[in-house]
Amino acid sequence: MSSHVFGRATVGQLPVAARGDGCYIIDADGKRYFDGSGGAAVSCLGHSDAAVANAIKSQLDKIAFAHTGFFTSEPAEQLADRLIENAPQGLERVYFVSGGSEAVEAAIKLARQYFLEIGQPDRHRVIARRQSYHGNTLGALAAGGNEWRRRQFAPLLVETSHISPCYEYRDRCSDESAYEYGQRVANELEEEIQRLGAESVLAFIAEPVVGATAGAVPPVEGYYRRIREICDANGILLILDEVMCGMGRTGTLFACEQDRISPDIAVIAKGLGAGYQPIGAMLCSGAIYEAIAAGTGFFQHGHTYMGHPLATAASRAVLGAILDRGLLANVNDKGRKLRAELELVFGQHPNVGDIRGRGLFLGLEFVEDRETKAPFDPSRKIAANLKKRAFEAGLICYPMSGTIDGARGDHMLLAPPFIIEERQIDEVVGKLDTAFKAVF
Ligand code: PLP
Repeated sequence: MSSHVFGRATVGQLPVAARGDGCYIIDADGKRYFDGSGGAAVSCLGHSDAAVANAIKSQLDKIAFAHTGFFTSEPAEQLADRLIENAPQGLERVYFVSGGSEAVEAAIKLARQYFLEIGQPDRHRVIARRQSYHGNTLGALAAGGNEWRRRQFAPLLVETSHISPCYEYRDRCSDESAYEYGQRVANELEEEIQRLGAESVLAFIAEPVVGATAGAVPPVEGYYRRIREICDANGILLILDEVMCGMGRTGTLFACEQDRISPDIAVIAKGLGAGYQPIGAMLCSGAIYEAIAAGTGFFQHGHTYMGHPLATAASRAVLGAILDRGLLANVNDKGRKLRAELELVFGQHPNVGDIRGRGLFLGLEFVEDRETKAPFDPSRKIAANLKKRAFEAGLICYPMSGTIDGARGDHMLLAPPFIIEERQIDEVVGKLDTAFKAVF
């Protein structure tokens, strides 16, 4: 996605988002767009959730802001408790920030401070994966493997090692099972730890289901259990970045539940505020918290707007909606139906190489040739053109490609709101079909 500056120069280049109506955004000219990607997997409740709007308004009537150096707030405390009640085992504490990159930065700094507190000061290296995006601030950018985003800032980025992703469609050899493939690529972590020296490694960070660099790539069975084993055997922390795939997007509140593992630190953001407020969070294990509590007693970090009462009030209502309105069941049900419909309409398309994902986090990968899996020449801007044509047809979807987002080849992410109705699945696939016919 492009990065915008705002102001006079931008007027006329983009339609003005004037109003929201459920899964739709309506522009100033009255045109309706179905939000098929929730922006970038953000708007999980659509654009007009009355409960969330009322939660913000009623908190605003009480108090908008009180600095966390002096006060806590009711919504922040209640949101933290409810997140912990529903988090993977072992995650016991929550730290609120204002977005995904901030949450990743906080996670890396917390990992570093933890090892200082327990007397392992040599641990400072982070290992990540090549096919990953962890944010655009310098620390998060250093962790991410997205070459296109990193390139011009490289001298400012701390050195990070990048191992292979778990990307079955492209990288599994024909003579190995999916399970064997997963073990092979997970074992790269062990090799990298040995190469660097285990005593120098802080953490491994990864997205359970890859989002912004490759359109919803889930791991194969057993991959994350092996990763967990390797982290434990070497005493390094596992940080899972659920900024995009968390908060119910894949059908469970945390995506890693489906891989049957718990991280030491998890970061969440987009669906946490659902677009109603900017907010992110880091959840950490009791062991990390206790080591710091028993040591210096103070996590040396902080931002002015952390735990903001309006943001946490909105998120408390968002989490309530996800858990209490049966939306996880709808994610699973509509996710299955959307995927089945995509397979029916595009499964045999000569330029669709893969349809994948979990829940309402689905990706399509486009190829010039299905047999060889050869990607399109980047100059054809397939993903960007599909986005453009879909937008013209009134569908928002999230494109990725080497030229847009450093991905290998061209991809499309679909991540509609959890409130999507059955009839709207036909609308999404129909509009996508219109875009396909215009581009291919
Ligand atoms: N981590 C992942 C997995 C993401 O997809 C993103 C954003 O797309 C981020 C981190 C950064 O989040 P933010 O844009 O809120 O800083």
